Amino acid sequence: YNPPFIIWLFPKEPRLSSVDSQRRVLSGMRPTGRLHLGHYHGVLKNWVRLQHEYECFFFIADWHALTTGYDEVTTISQSAWELAVDWLAAGVSPSSANIFIQSQVPEHAELHLLLSMVCPLGWLERMPTFKEQQEKLSHKDLNTYGFLGYPLLQTADILIYRAGLVPVGADQVPHIEFSREVARRFNHLYGKEPGFEEKAEQAIQKMGKKAAKLFNNLRRAYNEQGDEEALETARALLKEQQNITIGDKERLFGYLEGGGKVILPEPQSLLTEASKMPGLDGAKMSKSYGNTISLRDTTDEVADKIKRMPTDPARVRRTDPGDPAKCPVYQLHEVYSDAGTRDWVQQGCKSAGIGCLDCKKPIIDAIQAELKPMQERAADYESSPDLVRSILADGAEKARETARETLVDVRHAMGLNYR
Ligand code: ATP
Ligand code: MG
Repeated sequence: YNPPFIIWLFPKEPRLSSVDSQRRVLSGMRPTGRLHLGHYHGVLKNWVRLQHEYECFFFIADWHALTTGYDEVTTISQSAWELAVDWLAAGVSPSSANIFIQSQVPEHAELHLLLSMVCPLGWLERMPTFKEQQEKLSHKDLNTYGFLGYPLLQTADILIYRAGLVPVGADQVPHIEFSREVARRFNHLYGKEPGFEEKAEQAIQKMGKKAAKLFNNLRRAYNEQGDEEALETARALLKEQQNITIGDKERLFGYLEGGGKVILPEPQSLLTEASKMPGLDGAKMSKSYGNTISLRDTTDEVADKIKRMPTDPARVRRTDPGDPAKCPVYQLHEVYSDAGTRDWVQQGCKSAGIGCLDCKKPIIDAIQAELKPMQERAADYESSPDLVRSILADGAEKARETARETLVDVRHAMGLNYR
């Protein structure tokens, strides 16, 4: 991933260049029930890996829980608590990452409000998840302002930390793409220094008639027709100019792209290999499909659930050969098993050499082994509620510091500057 071009164009702006958005990670989960293996393999494992290399902000998205669950609020705080314990048990370390509850950092809400001024309604209405979720949760009235604005709140969650990297599951990728568009629009509207355009025009005039005319034509070709080649040619033209200052060149680089400086860097999503972790029926593992294994399931529950998993429907008797490509159990082998075990399954299933229970055994063992240490650590944290509370309070405090810095720049850019 290349950092946005503009970032190095304004090296003299300490605020912007000192924030290296590519070193910042943000991600969140909703406190809507117990975590399952989809959350673990899709996201949490990535968090644990990233926390040592990046400045990480992981938050409990309680406001997001209200977007679909505004009528069932009694479980939010308990779920938030369980979520924090499960993260810690899964290996998220409070000494490496900031862990906090969204509603304890009200700066998210202020940025959400400010972004709502510039977010086109059509962008929200067209989000695939908007219609999909309304259909999936048809027993609920989700024709609400908050639910429509869900992706914009998510955008504020990311941009308030100027986080460049967002580890999520595959279903969230369109939302991150939307965040990029909002950031781009914001920077386009507010990233210009006062008198930016006039200053750029004056700089063009200093280039000499011929070069100025060529530059303007190329700039228009890019801005009006999106001609990338024209952009490249214009950049090269700028580089070879002898009689304009470096400051003017930087200004013109920004002008070329139709923008100014970057106030809110564009984020991108980070996926794991199991970015769409399958559930017990082969569909995406999700609470609402009832196909999950929870991080707190007991050894017996795990064994039971896997034993009852459907397999290739054509394999009725033990002696019938099966096809792993049609079996949800095989999808779990792809997550849990090494090449040798997968070969053994392929051969054994296709030749009816092994039965479905034989095939399921290594999965049961792997999941039980995976969950055991997590459940032990969870028990430790559950017996020290004060520790968990103080981890969340510290996390919120640190998050607020960073969030406030961004808000200073955003308020200033939007003309809310009263000092
Ligand atoms: P569920 O789908 O079980 O109801 P959720 O969607 O309510 O869970 P969220 O807080 O919205 O949970 O999602 C938390 C994160 O977990 C998101 O980044 C989402 O993409 C990811 N995630 C959820 N399920 C899976 C899965 N089966 N595979 C990979 N990632 C997943
Ligand atoms: Mg979801």
